[in-house]
Amino acid sequence: MTAARSKSAGSATPPSIDAILNWPEMASLADRYGRVPLREAARDAARAIRQGRIGAEAEAVAQYCREKLGSGFAQSQRRVLNLTGTVLHTNLGRALLADEAAEAALTAMRYPANLEYDLDEGRRGERDLHIEPWLTRLTGAEAATAVNNNAGAVFLLLTALARGREVIVSRGELVEIGGSFRIPDIMREAGCTLVEVGTTNRTHLADYERAIGPETALIMKVHTSNYAVQGFTAAVSARELVALARGRGVPVVEDLGSGTIVDLRCFGLPHEPTAAESVAAGVDAVTFSGDKLLGGPQAGFIAGRRDLIRRIAKHPLKRALRLDKIRLAAIEATLKLYADPELLRTKLPTIALLARAPDAIAAAARRIHEALDAQFQQQGLRLDVEQCRSQIGSGALPLDLMPSWALTLRFERQRPQEGASLEALAQRLRALPVPVIGRLAEGRLWLDLRCLAADEEALLAQQLAALQP
Ligand SMILES: *Cc1c(COP(=O)(O)O)cnc(C)c1O
Repeated sequence: MTAARSKSAGSATPPSIDAILNWPEMASLADRYGRVPLREAARDAARAIRQGRIGAEAEAVAQYCREKLGSGFAQSQRRVLNLTGTVLHTNLGRALLADEAAEAALTAMRYPANLEYDLDEGRRGERDLHIEPWLTRLTGAEAATAVNNNAGAVFLLLTALARGREVIVSRGELVEIGGSFRIPDIMREAGCTLVEVGTTNRTHLADYERAIGPETALIMKVHTSNYAVQGFTAAVSARELVALARGRGVPVVEDLGSGTIVDLRCFGLPHEPTAAESVAAGVDAVTFSGDKLLGGPQAGFIAGRRDLIRRIAKHPLKRALRLDKIRLAAIEATLKLYADPELLRTKLPTIALLARAPDAIAAAARRIHEALDAQFQQQGLRLDVEQCRSQIGSGALPLDLMPSWALTLRFERQRPQEGASLEALAQRLRALPVPVIGRLAEGRLWLDLRCLAADEEALLAQQLAALQP
């Protein structure tokens, strides 16, 4: 490197590109990135030599190409440490898969599978059949199908069952989920006429009753997953709606959104409506996400009455929204864990993270604090262990926060040196080899350790120790 630097004072004539490509120093780069990108990098290196930015010897050129290709080919979507305190963070990819699900997905990726092939009969099969028995067993529904995500499930359900007709929804449930999923928009796109009933805070059974007419295709309930109306409120339960609609021959459907298939209270968490509860209340079809509280890959499920599910599954849009073999394999493995809810606590990361004991989180925070406190003080940074509150995320139970513990970072002095802002600090954490994503609040950077796995503790500590002031 020293030789390269001293040479770089003046420009030099570079070797030919072919000569550069034949240097033994370049062989491993060709293996790794291929000869086409390496030739491009060598051309850039030749230009850098002519301009005197690097030396002309093999080691300097190889180093230049290694860095150029390393940054050019860095994986754009990569692993991060989610220390935001939001367990199901949509921007960070929501649920983490169980080992069982990841292994099943890997096998599906690497080998041919009986995706649509009946091994008993030796003829064409149906892809949904791998997961339908588990979905019906866990929801109590007669039949079930699955598509790309829950937005797709709602869109497909409306298109297949209500296109060109009316769908009744309470004004208190006309939600926007984020990422431009709004119930009124999805209705219009599905070709349905939205019939709004009631008011934002109060809707009564009589409101629905008055709205039912010859053009009514469905009554739809939407779980207001990401907000809550409090105070003087009234909503009609699924059970009451079913009692009203049955007599008129109108199906009732419910979009549960985050909907889980197990009662979260058995893990000390607040109650979130389950698909089984909706089915038990008589709802004719429910929709819910795969990668929210259920803890699987991105998917949307529809469970309900056999005749309705058949109509939905036969619709051409189902083909456009269908799941691939990789996710179907992961979903099947995830659903099997629900056969015994006690398994979930250890095997399903989403439940394990949500049910994690605050004491265990605090202990991790103290261990890292102890290892790094002195060093951070020398850098003019103050590291503290503080109590905080995590949230479930992805719209689930927005008002329920879980007690947790965080490491917080702030500047020791009142007025930090120039450029030493908290934003700049957060940016440096995001630039680490495994980016660390925290949250800025109250003049500190908060690193909520709820989602830090035991085997990630050393990684976080090492990375923080390597942070330069
Ligand atoms: C999250 C959510 C959706 C969308 O689900 P995706 O799986 O993200 O497509 C739809 N409806 C409700 C009520 C939701 O909470």
